[in-house]
Amino acid sequence: MTEPEDHAEVRLVAHCRRCHGWLLSTKSVAAGIGRPARRESVPTSRRRPR
Ligand SMILES: [Zn+2]
Repeated sequence: MTEPEDHAEVRLVAHCRRCHGWLLSTKSVAAGIGRPARRESVPTSRRRPR
C-alpha cells in the first residue's frame, strides 16, 4: 500500500497570540495574530483627544 500524497499536504496553522484562536490564513499565520484580533490591537482614532 502506498501512502496518499494528499496526506503529505502541509498546512501552516498556528494559534493567535491574542485570542488563541486558530489562524487558518497564511497571512494571519505569518503575522502571528488573527484578523479580528489584529483589528483590536490596531490603535484606531476612536479615542477622543479630550
Ligand atoms: Zn486573535
